[in-house]
Amino acid sequence: MGKANVNMICDVAELTSLFEKSNSLDDFLQAAVSTVAYHMQAAVCSIYIYDDASRMLTLRATQGLSADAVGKVQLRLGQGIAGLALKELRSICTGCASKSPSFEPVDGIGEEKYQAFLAVPIRRQLKRVGVLTVQDTEADYFDGADEQALRAIAGQLATVIENADLLMALHRQEDVRPVQVTPVSKMIKGRSGSSGVARGIGSMVVSGRAGRFRKHESTPDELTLDDFERALKASEQQLADLQREAAVTLSDVAQLIFSAHLLILADDEFSGAIRRQIQEGIHPADALVDVVNRYIDIFSASPNPRLQEKVHDLKDLGHRLMENLIGGERAPGDYTGQIILADSLLPSDVLKLATEKAEGFVVQGGMTSHIAIICRSLQKPMVMVDAQQFDLFTESCELLIDGSAGTVYIQPSEEVLKEYVKHQRRADALEAAPPMNPESHTADGTRIQLFANINLLSDLKLADKFNAEGVGLYRSEFPFIIRNDFPSEEEQYRVYSRIVEAMGEREVTFRALDIGGDKLLSYQDEVEEANPFLGLRGIRFLLKNKEVFAEQLRAMLRAGVGGHSRIMFPLISSVDEFVEARELVKQCMGELDQRGVEYNRDTQLGVMIELPSAVVLVEDLAHEVDFMSIGTNDLIQYMLAVDRTNEMVSSLYLSHHPAILRAIDRVVSVARNHRKDVSICGDIARDPKMIPFLLGVGIRKISISPRQMVEIQQAIEAVSMQKAVYAARQMLELSRISEVESFLNNT
Ligand code: PEP
Ligand code: MG
Repeated sequence: MGKANVNMICDVAELTSLFEKSNSLDDFLQAAVSTVAYHMQAAVCSIYIYDDASRMLTLRATQGLSADAVGKVQLRLGQGIAGLALKELRSICTGCASKSPSFEPVDGIGEEKYQAFLAVPIRRQLKRVGVLTVQDTEADYFDGADEQALRAIAGQLATVIENADLLMALHRQEDVRPVQVTPVSKMIKGRSGSSGVARGIGSMVVSGRAGRFRKHESTPDELTLDDFERALKASEQQLADLQREAAVTLSDVAQLIFSAHLLILADDEFSGAIRRQIQEGIHPADALVDVVNRYIDIFSASPNPRLQEKVHDLKDLGHRLMENLIGGERAPGDYTGQIILADSLLPSDVLKLATEKAEGFVVQGGMTSHIAIICRSLQKPMVMVDAQQFDLFTESCELLIDGSAGTVYIQPSEEVLKEYVKHQRRADALEAAPPMNPESHTADGTRIQLFANINLLSDLKLADKFNAEGVGLYRSEFPFIIRNDFPSEEEQYRVYSRIVEAMGEREVTFRALDIGGDKLLSYQDEVEEANPFLGLRGIRFLLKNKEVFAEQLRAMLRAGVGGHSRIMFPLISSVDEFVEARELVKQCMGELDQRGVEYNRDTQLGVMIELPSAVVLVEDLAHEVDFMSIGTNDLIQYMLAVDRTNEMVSSLYLSHHPAILRAIDRVVSVARNHRKDVSICGDIARDPKMIPFLLGVGIRKISISPRQMVEIQQAIEAVSMQKAVYAARQMLELSRISEVESFLNNT
């Protein structure tokens, strides 16, 4: 009968949330071992943390062994029962440790007397984080239920302990000594949204519905109607300037970012109501607060989500007017040196704040993947955190965010800041001269094509800089998501033409609108879907809204003139959907012929392979389509039934899952047998470790974000085809996730 119980798992789960409030990681680890030892009624509980660079485990907390040993005792990976558990990424339960060939008691810590030994690896996906062990004097003390419970706890602890990794990297000395983790003021481990590092002062942007617009504390007593008129003019001018600036740098999406602000400013009812109050003797700042809040009430009470969203804009406008009215220190709408802390953001907010020079973003919440994509395109670091973590931030706190690690430091220490400066230098050097060859080849000379995933037009410059051989995926949804209504055929045509022009001879693959799931249009009729990812998304939305689809197809067909363009359809689940979409393309071509409008008659049509049904039907699809592109972001989500936006199941979202590997292999081999072009455009190709597998199964064309190209080209150049084929064969034979992980870790 297991000693562990539900209470214990709950306690440990609670501990993880307490981490952010602990003074240091060591305090937290000590609390964790005490709790586990108590609930398991075990004489000893210890945590060892693994350091990747030295391949050593260090005892970092213990209940039961000598406290002096903490920070001193070290094990090699594979050494002793704990080291072996981590090396082989499996739990080891020994009834009588002294009889186990792996047992190596450490001198001077009093370990010899403990017979029962249970060790469970702590890991985050492929990453070794540490080992959690329990020991007891009574032989055979732990059973299967204890092992299961300890595994669950290790899973809970993994996220928190993983934070240590980055700290270790920051504090790692040239000589490898036992790692000392110097506590930073506070580190929060969220999720990576967009890479890059930014430093600044936190600026809270709380959602429209929460909180009211308030008067500035330092409002002078003597303000007049003239002051208000001046503030009005200044605000108009600033907004018009910002809009112009955005239109130059973000021509595809920026068109209307500040339109709501300008519209409200121009509204006589709005400014008139403030004027009237001032004329009646009310202080201009109070009049402004009153009218803005009245508008906020009206908008937030509206059943129309489009109007509700305007609450954000209203508050923003109120602040701008107030700053201009009182002549505050901070230039309104200038976020230089600031990191936005937001409980919710719209894609248009991100564009607006980035135009206003925000350094980075920390956003609370789940459905944020389109925001993350925009941040990536805008090269703004972004970290996603949960509600509890968000509560730790305060206005004007000093922050450093590391978008790649998904980490936020509050009041960063000197060491962290030094690391930041180094990062900036490296990033600047990479930006100035990316160390790339014009073409990519494996170590033994097989040619691999690297294409760019493009989200915003501003990505095209980067694609050029990193020698992209074309656009493998243009996510066409952003101009749709950001605006207030569907862009017209002409507007779309202008955006798509820019891509074809920029690429010249190079191939461009437009993806038709992939709306739905977490990418919602604010102007769509509000239909609450219980499972939006299983709902009206991608091709389903398009085939249901054929007017919208046809407009986009015509714009894409026309933009392809003089270029080498292709169109692919997202979320295809059947041959029928592809055929129906192809029919519509033909119909659009007919209409363009009738109108006498030029278009690319050789536009190839393809599908994204993102659903299990498409994998099963790949042979049938191959007969119909011109090309296929494997979208692993969704393929993983749908094959493994793991929501790609849900942090609670993120440890199950595994690109190296045997089912995913076999699905990719199947698609590539069928496509190649049918001599159909096949590429990969999902994030699996961003992981250098997966490159040998992808090449080994036959992938020769990879589309990734331009920023990833240096690293991926290096991974390609480091592997020979012979090795890649060997790796793929080996991996395809493995039936367990853990075996694939061991293989990847040991090659
Ligand atoms: C994918 O699903 O892998 C993909 C590339 O599309 P998106 O990430 O835009 O859904
Ligand atoms: Mg997808």
